[in-house]
Amino acid sequence: MLSTRPSVALLGATGSIGTQTLDVLRRELDSFDLVAIAGGQRLAQLAAIAKEFDVSNIGVVSNDDRVSLQAMVGPSVNIVVGAEGLTELSMCADVVVNAVVGFAGLPVTLSALQAGKRLALANKESLIAAAPLVAKVRTTGGAEILPIDSEHCAIHQCLAGSPDEPGHPDVRRLLLTASGGPFRGWTKHQLSSVAKSDALKHPTWSMGPKITIDSSTLMNKGLEVLEASALFGIEVDRVDVVVHPQSIVHSMVEYVDGSVLAQLSEPDMRLPIAYCLGSPVRFNHGWGRLDFSQALHLTFEAPDREAFPALDLAYAAARRGGAAAAWLSAANEIAVDAFLNDQISWSRIVPLVADVMDGFDDEPLTSLEELFENDATARRIAHGMVIGQ
Ligand code: NAD
Ligand code: MG
Repeated sequence: MLSTRPSVALLGATGSIGTQTLDVLRRELDSFDLVAIAGGQRLAQLAAIAKEFDVSNIGVVSNDDRVSLQAMVGPSVNIVVGAEGLTELSMCADVVVNAVVGFAGLPVTLSALQAGKRLALANKESLIAAAPLVAKVRTTGGAEILPIDSEHCAIHQCLAGSPDEPGHPDVRRLLLTASGGPFRGWTKHQLSSVAKSDALKHPTWSMGPKITIDSSTLMNKGLEVLEASALFGIEVDRVDVVVHPQSIVHSMVEYVDGSVLAQLSEPDMRLPIAYCLGSPVRFNHGWGRLDFSQALHLTFEAPDREAFPALDLAYAAARRGGAAAAWLSAANEIAVDAFLNDQISWSRIVPLVADVMDGFDDEPLTSLEELFENDATARRIAHGMVIGQ
């Protein structure tokens, strides 16, 4: 029985999604065999995970890290380094969980699909930046993407009964729900002086710092519009955003006959993670189970597009196509990083991304080389703007 357990590679094992995936795996030791992990820092945590799950392959970012970690785990563990290491680990398991944050997760997405694996995808940035390239490798035999992002996992479930026709003609639109973040209802004036500690306090989810800041600007929802379009092959004009502060309805699909299907639970990422690992099997854990014996208030409202312009920036990037989404995501990574390092204010994050996008000149995106060039250019321009503040 043990030999038939699907093997799992968990890349980004020390982060928010990573540790919640470990929680799921702990409860499903008979179902999965964790064979590879990777992380950007926190070597002691990687060593502890390797020991607990008897993992024999670990990815780290530098040679120095490799030497330090090898001393902790002993010579029998195979340690690989950098993007090349991530590529190797992404091909070594049946199920690859991409829980790396940012563009650094690109080798995981591309290699897992190229190798015909199931990709349980949390790392939205790689899909958004490389959408045309991902579309190509996704056709590899055996390759599939199961979305961990809660909204997309909800849509995946709501689409289950829809015929798998290109463009989903029976779907009128996808409705992505958004909590609205910590600054929902704030005016432009109030938003001009927000504190970092407030931006890092998400009302309904506990997540890594980058996505928490993205949620506060609504850039996360903008990126998710692009993510939904790429995942489900539906143009962005059929993807709408609706603010739902309770984060219980994780997203919805409206069909052409008027039916709206939704997926509900208390916010708990272990539910979508377990869905992606097990699908079509559903594990009996009841994560995020709702208690309908209590009153349940669900409210929906339109997003404030003026106070949160990130949303329209994302739609604009989607309509321009080519490398525009790669520019948007790269510029945003630099801006969020600069905010977290106290180099720019919160209210400068999205305008900085908009300024970078002003310089975008309809670059195509047909190869990996073009993607790396565009990513580097957008980062250089964004960085220059941070330095020149
Ligand atoms: P996090 O910052 O908590 O964790 C990121 C992980 O990536 C860490 O393990 C870090 O060590 C690793 N990492 C960073 N750079 C790396 C590199 N170069 N090589 C190898 N590992 C590297 O982030 P998170 O909140 O867990 O988010 C991860 C991804 O999942 C993001 O793309 C995010 O948008 C997405 N996501 C997260 C949540 C959530 O609830 N946290 C929900 C939906 C989607
Ligand atoms: Mg999400």
